[in-house]
Order: sequence, then structure tokens, then C-alpha cells
Amino acid sequence: MAQLDVRQKLEILADAAKYDASCASSGTAKRNSSDGKGLGSTEGMGICHAYAPDGRCISLLKILLTNSCIFDCHYCINRKSSNVRRARFTAKEVVDLTISFYKRNYIEGLFLSSGIIRSSDYTMEQMVEVARSLREDHDFRGYIHLKTIPDADPALIEAAGRHADRISINVELPTASGLKRLAPEKSEARIEGAMTGIKGAILDGKDAARRYKSAPRFAPAGQSTQMIVGADAATDGDIIHRASGLYDRFTLRRVYYSAFSPIPDASAVLPLKRPPLMREHRLYQSDWLMRFYDYRADEVAAAADDTGMLPLDIDPKLAWALKHRDRFPVDVNRAPREALLRVPGLGVRAVNNILVSRKWRRLRLDDLKRLTVSLSKIRPFIVAEDWRPLLLSDRAELKPLVAPVAKPDQMELFAA
Ligand code: SF4
Repeated sequence: MAQLDVRQKLEILADAAKYDASCASSGTAKRNSSDGKGLGSTEGMGICHAYAPDGRCISLLKILLTNSCIFDCHYCINRKSSNVRRARFTAKEVVDLTISFYKRNYIEGLFLSSGIIRSSDYTMEQMVEVARSLREDHDFRGYIHLKTIPDADPALIEAAGRHADRISINVELPTASGLKRLAPEKSEARIEGAMTGIKGAILDGKDAARRYKSAPRFAPAGQSTQMIVGADAATDGDIIHRASGLYDRFTLRRVYYSAFSPIPDASAVLPLKRPPLMREHRLYQSDWLMRFYDYRADEVAAAADDTGMLPLDIDPKLAWALKHRDRFPVDVNRAPREALLRVPGLGVRAVNNILVSRKWRRLRLDDLKRLTVSLSKIRPFIVAEDWRPLLLSDRAELKPLVAPVAKPDQMELFAA
């Protein structure tokens, strides 16, 4: 590997990390250094936004420890057979960068992932050393997200969870057959085994924290995972069911969806074109419906067309409503919360506002105008004191009336 200075390494390893979508700092324990002790905070506001070159997660320093890897996953730019420029940080270099960027208010935390060097255990040891040194040598109290390696010794994953706020393992592809074809050195059984171990450690940590104030914490922001969308033949329906299963079995905080990007010198088994970015967006919306709107996976998947794909021109909630017209209109003065949450255009906050307001008066369109974001979007789907729409089943032309006007495609700044 060529001798590079830290700035050159940073250029390579921050760029290489942009393919990883899984880095949100929500949900961790509150911790700060406002008492003059230690350094950093997980609750900072106004902390500046700086690093990742693709515009995502820019308040975390998001880097790889190295982009060298002994594995050869077809979809990955860092795979063994890839022709990219390689670089590798030492653990100390990552620690020093994090501290210096934090002190300059460039970042509020660290997201660290890595290719696999020498062995899974060796790589994991290096990553744990970064987190250990930040916490123990520098008393760093900012956010740390470590991407862990499923094959690593469970004791190392346990050490990672003691220092990090969030840990994650990528399931990589929505189906076992896709994983076998595109990442032959990885195994669904090993990935899920490691996720089971992390789930157990998180639950044990929470249980211990309830009983002993001084109990060590384990990944208080939980575990997350990521799936690549569009590199294999999995449909949106497959992805929705897989995500739902992962939430149920591993108590995940988040599943992230990352639209596959064609990479330089791509393997011949990969598609030549990336899927539309809107597909990734629709999957995030369907994920939202399952987590906050009480939709079951089979209900969200029912919004898909005959090929199992969600429509790109309308959101999955509207698509579901148009396929289930018999469930509408919903009376905003009488319907239960679950039915209100199904109304396209009504968010959780608006539903909560409606439930509170209707205790005192029967709601009219004017009231709903104040309580919701878009009256025109919800009107065809609701009944109010002074409003009743035509029956939806009578309106064959409803979709053009409620679908948003298509916007021209945004060119991508960082297209590969
Ligand atoms: S193990 Fe990770 S870094 Fe290595 S080739 Fe596979 S996806 Fe890329």
C-alpha cells in the first residue's frame, strides 16, 4: 500500500464510506459534558455539519478504517478484486481525527466501518480499540456507531457494544439466495447469529440498568442493519417482508435501504443501471408505515403492483388507500385512531391533534385545515361535520386527482 498522509487517507476513506446508509444518531442515551467533565455530547444542537461527501449523515465523521478487504462481495467497491486506490488508518489516527474534528465543531460523533484486513477478529480489535481509546483515554462522550463484523469473536462484539452507542451488522441483501450469489463469503446464518447475540446483550444491558444504576451500558441506541436495493432480483414485497421479519426477530432500531450504485469495474453479475432513487424513498416510506402507522408487512406489500413493486409515482399509503376504497371515507369525528392513521395525508401528529380536538367539538373542514398539513389531500378520504365526499368506489379517476404532480428528475451530484 502506498505511503499516504492523513489527509490523503481521509479523502479515500471518507469517500469509500459513502455507500453505507446506516448512520442516524437518534435514540441513544443522553450524555454530555456540560458539568466540565469529559468531552462531547450526544444531545448537542447546532453542532456543525461537515463531512460525508454524498450529503448524508454529515454531522458524523463517517469513515472506513480501511478500504482493503480480503472478501470479494460483487457489489462492493472495496472488494479484493477491485481496482481502487487503497488506504488504511491506524486506530490512533482515527481517534486523533475524531477528537480534532470534534473540537473544531465539525462533527458530533463518529461512524466507523471497515473492510476486513487479515481476519475478522483482527479488524474488529482495531475498531474496538478506536472506540475504547475515545471513551477511556479521552473521555469522549459524543456519539459512536460501530459497524461490526459478523464473524468476529463474540467477546469483541461485546466490547464494541460497551463503548459504542449503536452497533450494526449489514444483512446486505434481502434474500439468502442474493447473498449467496453476490457475497459468497458471507452467510445469512452467521449474520443472523451475530444479530441474535447483540439483541441478547442489549436486552441484558437494559435489564441490568433497571436494577443497578452503575451497570455497564450496551449499545444504548440499539442495533441497526442495511439492505442493498436493486442489486438482485428481490421485489419491494420481498424487501418489506424481510425488513418486518428483522424488526420482529432482532428488535432493530432501524433498517436502512441503500439503492445499489453501479461501481467502477463492476462484476458482470450486477445490473448495469442503478434502481431509481425513488424506489429507495418508497421503501423508507413503507418502513415508516410499519413502524409508526401500525401497518402489517402484508398490508404494505399489498400496495405493490402484480410484479411486487411499489408504485414510484405515489406513496405506498396512498397506493394502499386507492386499492382499499371500501375502507373510506373515514369519519374524523368518530373513527378510531387506527382508521385515521390510514387516511392519506394524515400524519401521526395530525391524528393526535384530531383526537384531542374532537373531544370538545365536532370537527368541520375549517378545523381540519388548522390541524392538518394538506386539506386537499385528505378531503376525498374523510367525512367531517360539514363534508361528505362522493363514494370513492364511484371515482375511477381518483388517482390523478390525489396523486402529486410529477417533478422533473433531479440529476445526481455523486453518481458513480
Ligand atoms: S466484506 Fe464488506 S468491505 Fe469487504 S467486500 Fe464485502 S461488503 Fe465490501
